Amino acid sequence: MKNGGIRSKPVGESSTRDSEGELWSKLWSLWILPLVRNFIWRGLHNSLPTEDKLVWKGMLIDRVCVLCSNSNEDLVHVLVTCPFSSRFWLTTPWNLLTTGQQ
Ligand SMILES: [Zn+2]
Repeated sequence: MKNGGIRSKPVGESSTRDSEGELWSKLWSLWILPLVRNFIWRGLHNSLPTEDKLVWKGMLIDRVCVLCSNSNEDLVHVLVTCPFSSRFWLTTPWNLLTTGQQ
């Protein structure tokens, strides 16, 4: 849409792109191992090779989490809800997750 010669964007579109651009700039400027940076980027783009993703791409494999066998292995399960990953997050010094039982 044109507005007096200035091209305007729908409300919220540019601020979302600006904040995403800012997020990626911060991520790429972090002083962390490139491997970790790549892992974070792939996680945020849901491109980690979880069992769920591999089945979606046509591989004939079992989707169940190999660590706990309690759920299909998708990104959220691997990083958050799997009992093994939950234990990791609860023991980090950053206190990223809480159990509600403090
Ligand atoms: Zn699991």
